[in-house]
Amino acid sequence: MPAPEDLLHRIFGFKSFRPGQEEIVASVLAGADTLAIMPTGGGKSLCFQLPALCREGVTLVISPLIALMRDQVRALREAGVEAGALTSGNTDEETEAVFQAIDDGRLKLLYMAPERLASTATLGLLRRAGCSLIAVDEAHCVSQWGHDFRPDYLRIGELKQALGVPLAAFTATADAETRAEIVTRLFAGTPPRSFLRGFDRPNIHLAFAAKDGPRAQILNFAAARKGQSGIVYCATRSKTESLAAALRDAGHAAVHYHGGMEADDRRQTEFRFQQEDGLIVAATIAFGMGIDKPDIRWVAHADLPKSIESYYQEIGRAGRDGAPAETLTLYGADDIRLRRSQIDEGLAPIERKAADHARLNALLGLAEAQGCRRQVLLRYFGEDPEPCGHCDLCETPPELFDATEAVRKALSAILRTGES
Ligand code: ADP
Ligand code: MG
Ligand code: ZN
Repeated sequence: MPAPEDLLHRIFGFKSFRPGQEEIVASVLAGADTLAIMPTGGGKSLCFQLPALCREGVTLVISPLIALMRDQVRALREAGVEAGALTSGNTDEETEAVFQAIDDGRLKLLYMAPERLASTATLGLLRRAGCSLIAVDEAHCVSQWGHDFRPDYLRIGELKQALGVPLAAFTATADAETRAEIVTRLFAGTPPRSFLRGFDRPNIHLAFAAKDGPRAQILNFAAARKGQSGIVYCATRSKTESLAAALRDAGHAAVHYHGGMEADDRRQTEFRFQQEDGLIVAATIAFGMGIDKPDIRWVAHADLPKSIESYYQEIGRAGRDGAPAETLTLYGADDIRLRRSQIDEGLAPIERKAADHARLNALLGLAEAQGCRRQVLLRYFGEDPEPCGHCDLCETPPELFDATEAVRKALSAILRTGES
């Protein structure tokens, strides 16, 4: 069996493990049920790819997006690893090649969308392939409470039982509720070895501002970063369009993106953003999981996100290359009313609504923080860091913000109303 460090250099071309990776790799390699919670860009893929190469048999990788699977399979194959995917996007030749590699006993990693687990033939195929480990990427998709919920993720627990193999689950979503759901649904309630660390993204500057002429606030923020790639998240489709137009009028390269666009237009916008330098996308949260651009220099929220989780995920798209990145989140009384009514008028069961209100309240607590903003954010995720020196409140302590006192009081009043 090859040594993990050796493969780290030889196959993946990395000098050393990133923080947290080594322990997770060791756990997965040892065949322990494992849950790893690591921020986006932290290097989760390696934590199942490397053990897959060291272990006997095939590792099944469940992933929610065909684009993510294809990227990983391509990179692995370029590194000389026998990896393949069975997805609805395959050509017949691709599918045939995967079956051939299974029959020859060559395949090491088999990527699959969760939908395929609905087919009864899949269990037989996995037995024949000698599946010895299941890796679940984006494991929060098993949570019925998040907006990435994928019903077919609920079949994974049964598959694990049927195959009698260890399972390793990976996600960047850290709240206690989602974690508990993952343990229930993927590990039949038996707590796996869990790794939860490193939520800080120190290169990302954090800042909030009360809305005060929000369009001008966004335009000023973008103007100070002209020529840099950025995302402006908006609460509505129509605002993505009007804000993109305003940004173009101000001389930026800017486009809009939302779920109401044709699939082709969406793909084209994703592709442009990926390829071009300095494009701004004004988007709803539909612009999300598939975006893998390392040099996004800034993320702004023209409206308050819907929860502290969403906030973290959305700002986390900036600065994945580790270079400095800036964020600005605007909030106003109207946002809070909108988010509250979205929760109240939604179809979710009552307990879920209570949880959604709590997540929104956590975000409002962050918006109104009086001390280091990063501290407040990371404490929500179970960490307890020192003040960061790299957020708006560390740089300008709130005593100096007399002007916002009135706004804060108004917001507090609304916050209390919402809790009643
Ligand atoms: P995640 O799934 O946690 O968001 P990825 O697995 O996509 O993160 O990895 C993010 C980036 O980090 C990738 O470009 C990957 O090649 C790189 N990476 C992962 N592990 C290491 C490492 N040990 N050293 C250097 N780069 C790494
Ligand atoms: Mg990933
Ligand atoms: Zn700070």
